[in-house]
Amino acid sequence: METKKFDQADLAKAAKLIQEGELIAFPTETVYGLGADALNEVAVKKVYAAKGRPSDNPLIVHVANASSVSELVAEVPPVAEKLMTAFWPGPLTMIFKAKSGVFAPTVTAGLTSVAIRMPDNQSTLQLIQQAGTPLVGPSANTSGRPSPTSAEHVYHDLAGKIAGIIDDGVTGVGLESTVVDITEPDQPVILRPGAVTKQELEAIIGKPVAYDQHLVTDKEAPKAPGMKYKHYAPAEPVILVKGTDISKWREAIAYFQEQGEKVGILANLELITKLKSEVTEVFSLGLKTNIKDASHNLYAGLRFFEKTEVTMILAEAYDINDNNQAYMNRIEKSSGKKYF
Ligand code: AMP
Ligand code: MG
Repeated sequence: METKKFDQADLAKAAKLIQEGELIAFPTETVYGLGADALNEVAVKKVYAAKGRPSDNPLIVHVANASSVSELVAEVPPVAEKLMTAFWPGPLTMIFKAKSGVFAPTVTAGLTSVAIRMPDNQSTLQLIQQAGTPLVGPSANTSGRPSPTSAEHVYHDLAGKIAGIIDDGVTGVGLESTVVDITEPDQPVILRPGAVTKQELEAIIGKPVAYDQHLVTDKEAPKAPGMKYKHYAPAEPVILVKGTDISKWREAIAYFQEQGEKVGILANLELITKLKSEVTEVFSLGLKTNIKDASHNLYAGLRFFEKTEVTMILAEAYDINDNNQAYMNRIEKSSGKKYF
């Protein structure tokens, strides 16, 4: 199959392909999504096949407006209304109680709940409207790999497997949405950290929000099936180095080079400027340690090293706080939580 590139002017063509049950990758403010008609079971099955995604990892449904949610779920609790008003369109996914008969079991992976969000990208909101149906939209990458933050990343993973890609340049946030479970409206639980932080959710809800500890510790069975899989990993192993102490970084570089590794460094510009001449390749996460820049650049960085001779990546990690939860969650998963 030829994978066509669409731009703003071609949205009607892309919407028609969606209606015909084809797959179209779309831009969002987080990462590129792999779109299919969420009400068409055959189309949704193609999403799993194209990504190589395990069938027990449920999909997020993307809508063009908050008012359409009430028709798609069993109940919209007041807390959901508050969160939609505060954060939609934006990087917040909510888990609702599913309404029977609306979505195929392939969308929810057989769960009695369904994940919904309204992305903040004009082309994609128009695509959903023109298609006239909600779209599933998992990240548009091969399952397990770093998520795509540009149309080129999508093309690299899925060319020949999907009908088209809507190109809208590089995504802003760079990490997937925050997923919050509100099926128990009195006890909202964050299943996946993202750009909308725990403190921001608590400020709107007016009560404590928990993190699902399964997600944080990985020790027990996860609440959402998708949490158990290897994620966000490039071809080369990733090892984390916490902090910016230059002697610690030099120690890590020497340790791996002595074992014959060609080391790549993924860290802030100040650090890589000092270490550039001592390693095979470097990629900057941003000017200084800045969590927004690091999140924006993370996946592009992980993918960059695959095109080089590098055999392993040393990546910058931080002490976890409210703002860097999402970055740390992704980088820890991409490394299998391996620290130097
Ligand atoms: P991705 O599509 O790769 O960005 O991942 C979607 C995330 O949303 C995964 O971590 C899923 O486990 C989670 N998710 C989707 N639907 C549900 C659901 N009904 N209940 C819990 N988690 C969900
Ligand atoms: Mg994904």
